[in-house]
Amino acid sequence: MIRPALTRFLSMLLASTALLTPTAQAQEKVLNLYSARHYQTDEALYQDFTRTTGIRINRVDADDAGLLARLQSEGKASPADVILLVDAARLWRAEIDGLFQPVRSKLLEAAIPATLRGKDDGQGSQWFGFSTRARVIVYDKQRVSRTDVETYEKLADPVNKGRLCTRSGSHPYNLSLFGAMLEHLGPTATENWLTGLVANMARPPKGGDTDQIRAVGSGECAIAITNTYYLARLMRSTAPADRALMERVGVVFPNQAGYGTHVNIAGGAVARHAKNHEAAVLFLEYLAGPQAQAYFADGNNEWPVVKGIKLSNPALETLGTFKAETVPISVIGMNQVRVQQMLDRVGYR
Ligand code: FE
Repeated sequence: MIRPALTRFLSMLLASTALLTPTAQAQEKVLNLYSARHYQTDEALYQDFTRTTGIRINRVDADDAGLLARLQSEGKASPADVILLVDAARLWRAEIDGLFQPVRSKLLEAAIPATLRGKDDGQGSQWFGFSTRARVIVYDKQRVSRTDVETYEKLADPVNKGRLCTRSGSHPYNLSLFGAMLEHLGPTATENWLTGLVANMARPPKGGDTDQIRAVGSGECAIAITNTYYLARLMRSTAPADRALMERVGVVFPNQAGYGTHVNIAGGAVARHAKNHEAAVLFLEYLAGPQAQAYFADGNNEWPVVKGIKLSNPALETLGTFKAETVPISVIGMNQVRVQQMLDRVGYR
């Protein structure tokens, strides 16, 4: 009498297991994300994507160069589905190196201006910009006259001797700015300009952009170059030391009467050997959606690439609108090697 009952129980158990297993597998959707976005507040973005789609994100964090080297060495075995980078020239380079794949998405094409995505060769773009940031000049209002820092060119003027601080010349943010300058000024004037920057340094390059702004506040430097989101973060800080710092620091969007201020982009792509292709495209589309776009602005002080996003960020409002340069990203990308050679020659570390 026991046997039939046991058999029935076992077959029920088997049936329920058989039912459960595929369901459990189907629910376990994942996305492997390689990210160079180094902003703590991004956590909210990833959590919101998982909440909305049920897709879990496995994240690998490294800088742009580190992620690209890893993709190269992993080759076909790479688990990466989506790559997020924070520099236009690196996005361009990775496309050239065959690390991405084209994506055809009506949503992305409608949302993101053509100048802010990879070239569409008929199969779609290989990368998409999701936010922009400007590279601006900050200065000590007690020591520097605004007219001495109204252009990037003026940073190399002898009037600014002993005043300038920057992070490493070879950092992607600076390489892209210098690559744009090569387009604006030509090779001879650009190398002379870089020589002038080195001659005007208050100290050898070190630290990140925020360190440069703080060094202006402490009096170690009088002029610095920074991305706008680092500046906006300090503008929104309620810490008394930061408020005092921002009282002292003036901000200039350089070259407003000329070619405009240098702008860089943060963007993403689907990895060449992505295993979770559908989830990868969904994630890129999520980043172009109103929620993520508003997050880039309100959470990380970047400008959204999608038009008509309602912002609620007092620092971005204070920074206001400005004229941006229009150098194609491919040109900035192609200029990187030449600019690095100039930095080596003029001793800009
Ligand atoms: Fe950064």
